[in-house]
Order: sequence, then C-alpha cells, then structure tokens
Amino acid sequence: LFITFEGPEGAGKSTQVRLLAEWLREQGRAVLTTREPGDGGVVGAEIRQLLLHHHDMTPEAEYLLYSADRAEHVRTVLRPALERGEIVLCDRYLDSSLAYQGYGRGLSLGWLRAVAEGVTGGLKPHRTFLLDLPPEVGLMRFDSRDRLEREPLEFHRRLREGYLELAMAEPERFVVLDATQSVEAIQQSLRSFLASML
Ligand code: C5P
Repeated sequence: LFITFEGPEGAGKSTQVRLLAEWLREQGRAVLTTREPGDGGVVGAEIRQLLLHHHDMTPEAEYLLYSADRAEHVRTVLRPALERGEIVLCDRYLDSSLAYQGYGRGLSLGWLRAVAEGVTGGLKPHRTFLLDLPPEVGLMRFDSRDRLEREPLEFHRRLREGYLELAMAEPERFVVLDATQSVEAIQQSLRSFLASML
C-alpha cells in the first residue's frame, strides 16, 4: 500500500505521518515512513542539500534534481518496501512537483508528467492525502528554515489552487483534509480512512 501526503509547508504533514506510523505499528503492521526530497539514499540526501541551499536555479534544473532524487527513491526505497508488502507513508511525491514546479513555477505539466513517467516507471500512490491550508495560515506557522517563505504570496496561492485542481482531477486517489483543524482531528480522519483501506 503506497500512501502519499501532500500540501504546503506548515500543514503538518511530517507530524501526521509520524503519528499514523506509530498507530499502524501498534497494530503490528509493517510500515515505512519516507520523504521527498532526501530519502533516496546518499545521492538523495545530497540532492536535498543542493535544493535547499541553492536559490538561483532555473525551474527546469530544479525539477530535474527533484526527479533525480525521485528516481533513486523509487528504485532503492519505495519499490523494495512495497514488494516486501509494507505500508509506505511518503511525505511528498510527484504531486509536489506538479504543484511547485508546475503550478508554482510555470513549467508545463505535460513535460513534468513525461519525465516523471520514466523516473517512476508509472508508480502511483493508492491514496494521496492533501493537507489543504490557506497560504496565510501556512506561512504564519512556518519557521524560516528554508527558501520558500521568500516566495510571494501569489506563488503560494497558485500552489494551493494547483493542489486542489490535481485533487479534483483524481477524486478516487485524493482525500482533501482541512489542515486548519487540530493535529488530533486530522489524525483521527487519517486513521478512519486507513482503517477502511486495510
Ligand atoms: O517537505 P519539506 O517542507 O521538507 O520540503 C522541502 C522544501 O522543498 C520545501 O520548501 C518545499 O516547499 C520544497 N519543495 C519544492 N518542490 C518540490 C518539493 C518540495 O519546492 N517538488
């Protein structure tokens, strides 16, 4: 079972993934938690550093670096875990690229998807939870760790609209959750969805 979590910074994805994994493990399930960018082995970790610290990059180069990380991640982490029958909880995947590099930076979704097809070999999440949040709220929660807070509000608006458009186009895969709710309330919804899937 391949499950991804999407949304802007400040939506609380990593906390939700951690809590959900704890709950699943308490039930004796084999769970892998992982994230993009950065969990594609040593190369992935280096690419994450590049992406977080180099700000003057073309969007194309940025996307190809995310894709390089994703290629490593799919081949060395995601597929092996799925073949072992584990539940994979992944913090960001291709939808992040479609939202950030596509809707955010204006790259063509067609090109992004074409590259992604080769990179992922068509590996798609069974379910994607979108933690949806108004940009103003996300930016207030977000501490100044990296570069994206420097993007104008307009960028974050496009990002949110993009995510919602992706979700509407694939309602059978996406579940949109209101991330202004409490951590506990969001976790409760996630657990109900998971329970119905297992
Ligand atoms: O998930 P996390 O917040 O750690 O992501 C690291 C950074 O990379 C964030 O600023 C995120 O918005 C950005 N990102 C991006 N394009 C992607 C994935 C993440 O700009 N495809």
